[in-house]
Amino acid sequence: MSENKTPQKKAHKIYSATTGQQTTKEQAAKEVAQALANQTHQSTVGLRIGAIVLWVLAIGFEILALLVAVEKFAPKFLDSMPLWVPVAVLLVLDLICLIIGSQLWKKANHINPMSEKNKALFWLWNNLGLIVAVLAFVPFIVILATNKDADPKIKKVGAIVAVAALLIGGASSIDYNPVSKEQKEAAMEAITTTVYWTNTRSGKAYHTHEDCQTLNQTDELVAGSVEQAIAANRVKLCYFCAKRDGLENTVATEDGVGEVVLNQLEEKVDEAVESLTEETPAEETPAEEQPAA
Ligand SMILES: [Zn+2]
Repeated sequence: MSENKTPQKKAHKIYSATTGQQTTKEQAAKEVAQALANQTHQSTVGLRIGAIVLWVLAIGFEILALLVAVEKFAPKFLDSMPLWVPVAVLLVLDLICLIIGSQLWKKANHINPMSEKNKALFWLWNNLGLIVAVLAFVPFIVILATNKDADPKIKKVGAIVAVAALLIGGASSIDYNPVSKEQKEAAMEAITTTVYWTNTRSGKAYHTHEDCQTLNQTDELVAGSVEQAIAANRVKLCYFCAKRDGLENTVATEDGVGEVVLNQLEEKVDEAVESLTEETPAEETPAEEQPAA
């Protein structure tokens, strides 16, 4: 590791949003121009069907967990274990299906956003996963708690697991970065050049300038179209880039310096976590090569 920190502008490693490969600014610009000319749009039918199938499965596991908990469904192999084990396993399967389904749904909404003309409908559509989270755990909690014949121990364990799963599933089903059809169309109309975003999971904004001051500490950038940025969960234009381009009233931007600082802090934490997990395997001793006999 080098000891010297150079205060100069950083040369970024740029990756293409289309191919995932390392690329140059020029090549990225060509890809963006081509995508705009082709007018190709990703279909979201598969993502939505996947989400709905997984959500139905989640509720199926909930029903099964309830039937096992009240001993209405008791196959022979369950006799060998305490009752709470299959109930907890089924609730965890319920949670896994819910979370994956909600991620697919959110992804679809970023590729093919809904109009925000009707605010209530817009919120419901974007947070459908949250409603499914309620349906996937609350009936279990209520029905089990009010069942007179159920074992008190299973009532207690079932309630604890289901409430925890409801909180985790609900939190991960909310879209914290929703985007509307109008927002996406305005951004796509105003920005037809390459945009850049950080390669970390926490980044929320995209940039129209690769040399933007907020990217000085970042090593790797992804380059693509505005459409690709929004699909990658970068729904707002960077505050500084917007000012530089005079787009602050045309395109949805970050709310200002406060949000920029917050995003940068999140990215720093993310990078620190990533570097910690990356450095671990370096300490392993290399495997000795066995000479061929
Ligand atoms: Zn910027």
